[in-house]
Amino acid sequence: MTGYECDHTFALTSTFLQKNNLPVEATLEWLGENGAGCDCEVIFNVCPEWEDAVGYTPPDEDDA
Ligand SMILES: [Zn+2]
Repeated sequence: MTGYECDHTFALTSTFLQKNNLPVEATLEWLGENGAGCDCEVIFNVCPEWEDAVGYTPPDEDDA
């Protein structure tokens, strides 16, 4: 996430969930229980579980 500045909300996560027709509130609650309090913590703390749960893989940085 080069250049990404987290504002410590679930703004990005919420948008993502809505776009994918996922239950926003339930998912945010689950994320909180799994150690993620905002977008950046979602990415850094619960990535593996997150991927399992929603089938989402964050885009890798550009290939060198
Ligand atoms: Zn954050």
